[in-house]
Amino acid sequence: MSNKKGHNYLLSDLTKLKGVGNKISNLLKKKKVNTIFDLLWKLPKSYTDRSISSNIKDLKIGEIQTVTIIPYKYNFPRIRNLPNRVSCRDETGDLECIFFNSYEGYIKKILPIGKRVVVSGKIGFFRNKYQITNPKYVSEDSTIIKIKHNQYSLTEGITEKLYNNIIKQIIKNLPKLEEWHNKDILKKFDNISWYDSINKLHKPENIGKYKSPFYNRLAFDEIFSSFLVHSEIRKKIKKIKKNKKDLDLDKQNRFIDKLDFKLTKDQVRALSEINEDLISNQKMFRLLQGDVGSGKTIVALIAALNVVNSGFQVAVMAPTEILARQHYLLSKKLFKLSVKVDLLSSKSEFKDRKRILNELNNNKINLIFGTHSIFQKKVEFKNLGLIIIDEQHKFGVNQRKKLSDKGGSNCDVLLMSATPIPRTLTMTIYGDMDLSIIKEKPKSRKEVRTYTKLESKVDDIIKFIQKEIKTGNQVFWVCPLIDESKKIDHSSVLKKFKFLNKIFPNKVGLLHGKTEQVEKELILNNFLNKKYDILVSTTIIEVGIDFPNANIIIIENSNKFGLSQLHQLRGRVGRGNKQSTCILMFKSSLTENAKKRLNILKKTNDGFKISEEDMKIRGYGDILGFKQSGLKTFRLADPILNENLFILAEKEIKRIENNNEDISKFKTLIKLYDQADIINDIV
Ligand code: ADP
Ligand code: MG
Repeated sequence: MSNKKGHNYLLSDLTKLKGVGNKISNLLKKKKVNTIFDLLWKLPKSYTDRSISSNIKDLKIGEIQTVTIIPYKYNFPRIRNLPNRVSCRDETGDLECIFFNSYEGYIKKILPIGKRVVVSGKIGFFRNKYQITNPKYVSEDSTIIKIKHNQYSLTEGITEKLYNNIIKQIIKNLPKLEEWHNKDILKKFDNISWYDSINKLHKPENIGKYKSPFYNRLAFDEIFSSFLVHSEIRKKIKKIKKNKKDLDLDKQNRFIDKLDFKLTKDQVRALSEINEDLISNQKMFRLLQGDVGSGKTIVALIAALNVVNSGFQVAVMAPTEILARQHYLLSKKLFKLSVKVDLLSSKSEFKDRKRILNELNNNKINLIFGTHSIFQKKVEFKNLGLIIIDEQHKFGVNQRKKLSDKGGSNCDVLLMSATPIPRTLTMTIYGDMDLSIIKEKPKSRKEVRTYTKLESKVDDIIKFIQKEIKTGNQVFWVCPLIDESKKIDHSSVLKKFKFLNKIFPNKVGLLHGKTEQVEKELILNNFLNKKYDILVSTTIIEVGIDFPNANIIIIENSNKFGLSQLHQLRGRVGRGNKQSTCILMFKSSLTENAKKRLNILKKTNDGFKISEEDMKIRGYGDILGFKQSGLKTFRLADPILNENLFILAEKEIKRIENNNEDISKFKTLIKLYDQADIINDIV
């Protein structure tokens, strides 16, 4: 019978379970296990088969086995450190149980002379005799046929036995929830119910059956639920009616004609998708995704120009001051006097700041650049029509929704991301937004030549960069995080800095994790202005900044990085028209796997392809920016293995959206799977 309130049990506090008090509950909460539902995904990793073997003669040496025996003689030596022994037998042979650190009383109790008992343990063989050291007493009842013991990866302070107990308890009390899927969907999973799926999931003999209907159904539930939440957010945003923006496309095209390059097809398409949104009466909530150097900035700036020309203000938020300043300077150069542009910086003088705030409030500034400071309460816009957020991959769904609420109902939102990721991940992470993708890179762009080089050949590299520097080129020299500790990180960049500074006196800049923000910007500016030829740094070189003269990047210990991260780093160069070079250094011989990875980078400059390969090798959790983004990770679903399920979920969501179907039947699903704040106003 289905139980309407069944999900309440699953969402209850852990202390509702027998054997779980505050102490255990707190240990689990530290591992982000907050409800009984969360424990459902604690799966056995392996299990010990304690099925009873038929007799002593057939025991397999070296394996954990269970056997019925009759103890017949104790041997308790009175000498310290010698173990206690119990001789046992059955009809087929002898077996000795050996006990270290066990009291005689205990041994006599579990192995009484002449009684049949079941024991279990790893079988040894010594001096022609089978033995078990510190056997586990199983039972005195030899009629038990099978005892299987699940092994879980353990949380500190929680024993395997306790896990077995609480999970068994949950499975026993598992509610039969009302089915939320329709017949067509269910058919794809052999009509298996959620209840049966969970039961199967926990059967130790089903470990690793990732392709079975029960597994697929549960993975699909998870994907579908998260897509459903996205869909609801999107619907909510779409419901907000805004004033249409009147675009002057002639003006736009005249501006485009004056650029010293031709927009790529993808840029043109992205721009027209954005324009469609701007002239509609629905609020835009769009992601502009494109590889590093694909030319997102100009697309965003043209959209900004259109919005300004329609009488609204535009705010552009960059992750750092230096990037905000670079966008600001570019806009001033491109727009000249036709647009009133300004920069709100933390370094703005008080007087200047006051003027800017005033002018924003009076609509005297059309286009403002800044970091997140432009969204402080004090900053009031007269007529904000578009928010553009650059390099935003560190925002989660909740933060994005807040941002979209911020500008008020007339304000469109455009986010830009330079993290190319596979489509299934894009659907997962950005499913609440509409999507424009720039895949094609400007034709004039030369591919970054990528080489691998042994560290011992550093002299070759030095010769190479000496030559390049002479022609006015600049070099990034990246030292990796050797480990998480900033100390070692610091000393390795420092060493490299000293080494290079001897060869290139006073021409080397240094940036590391401890450099203060103000100093960092100074150093980056010095590098931009060619005071330095070489910039030694950890991986902190800002994303997105244009260093037109830097065309060489050297990455030490390159096999320590993920592919996507290497690709991002490589994207620091090759943004102009010069031929650029990336040298991946490595210490000594590489593993086959490492070679394969670095070869992918050598072969292609396509960030989307690289991230897909990266994900295949390392799993999706490690893809750059994904882990740090604080976004939900799936428990079962995997964007690579289950690509078909992601596509099925997307199709089903579209169908539901198109038919305007009531989604209240999914309430339980969403409640269980997305226990986030964001659903409070959905279900
Ligand atoms: P990203 O997408 O990484 O933000 P940018 O917008 O910073 O890339 O563009 C990188 C460089 O490419 C800039 O110097 C920009 O002027 C140039 N660029 C943009 N579009 C084109 C194009 N269609 N043809 C040639 N160069 C372009
Ligand atoms: Mg950019």
